[in-house]
Amino acid sequence: MRGTVATTRPVRVPFFDLRALHRTSGVQDEIDAAVLRVSRSGRYLLGPELETFEAAFAAYCENTHCVATGSGLAAVELALRAVGVDAGDEVIVPSHTFIGTWLAVSAIGARPVPVEPGDGSFLLDPDRLAAAVTPRTRAVLPVHLYGHPVDLTAIAAVADRHGIALVEDAAQAHGARHRGRRVGAGPAVAFSFYPGKNLGALGNGGAVVTHDAALADRLRLLRNYGSREKYVHELRGTNSRLDEIQAAVLAAKLPHLDEWNRRRRGIAERYSRELAGLPGVVTPDVSPWAEPVWHQYVLRSTAREVLRNRLAEAGVQTMIHYPVANHLSPAYAGQQSWPAGALPRAERLADEVLSLPMGPHLSDEAVETVIHEVRAAALALG
Ligand SMILES: *Cc1c(COP(=O)(O)O)cnc(C)c1O
Repeated sequence: MRGTVATTRPVRVPFFDLRALHRTSGVQDEIDAAVLRVSRSGRYLLGPELETFEAAFAAYCENTHCVATGSGLAAVELALRAVGVDAGDEVIVPSHTFIGTWLAVSAIGARPVPVEPGDGSFLLDPDRLAAAVTPRTRAVLPVHLYGHPVDLTAIAAVADRHGIALVEDAAQAHGARHRGRRVGAGPAVAFSFYPGKNLGALGNGGAVVTHDAALADRLRLLRNYGSREKYVHELRGTNSRLDEIQAAVLAAKLPHLDEWNRRRRGIAERYSRELAGLPGVVTPDVSPWAEPVWHQYVLRSTAREVLRNRLAEAGVQTMIHYPVANHLSPAYAGQQSWPAGALPRAERLADEVLSLPMGPHLSDEAVETVIHEVRAAALALG
């Protein structure tokens, strides 16, 4: 259940502060200049800013093509459509993820087929994947949740063996690495530039990155009414184009991303070191082959609500990603295949996860405050 925090104590450590991030990293002036440049350019869609950003982001991902879209949700949906997912198909998704992953599948009229995470993990378990494949399975859609890459080697092996497409939801993992390779180097990888993501616009945005020129071409058609030439419509596309202002802002922010992700990693390493072994609290694991980018730093606790209230009283903001398992949310509840208890790992995570403040906006002092207050709250649990 969603935690209700009754107190209104002054916030000492905000969960999230984009103004502080833009100010302290010196990027605010570059963002302002980008907005003004586009405003005065007379060109607002499918122009040079989009082309520049798409080339820069493809290169950042160590890949060849980037097709930017109006949102992350649209990026996931269009990537699925571009690899051939259609109404009535099945797409394998993680049971524990932001509901947007599932909704992208449902928007096509396809069916999300959830697979549970592995022991002590938040991520789709490759060992449970093969058992979920049926003759209707068209694609697997793993999520690099909280910025931690999934085991792509194992998942791609199953996808290859069964002849199903691999589409990655990397909405939370810009810059992460998997066995040395960027997340984004894969065959069809969807990103979100929602303002709070590791790379965020001043509004909505998304992108699909791929090394497949034909797939990129299909995506360019899909995002633009199925058209490459005005009033020639090759397929039933939609309208989902990253606008010039957002593209210019993202191009200004992209050169800072690695530095911001390094700062996130430094904070995560301190949290994990100084919160290890506390009673009633489990810190997140990192796979030996993974370089996560810590979109969220997520603890698990069976006393989550007590912990969260104590932290709120101490002025430390926390969040829950996510408080209701997707199959139990009103959007999906009532479907026979997923009664309560059907996906016990996802249900348990919804009850136990707690996200600590995370981001390059946090000062060392703020990080120390979080550590001090989590320790005090956990030790009080006994
Ligand atoms: C943010 C997010 C999305 C959707 O992105 P939007 O830009 O908000 O549409 C999809 N999947 C995951 C895992 C996300 O975190």
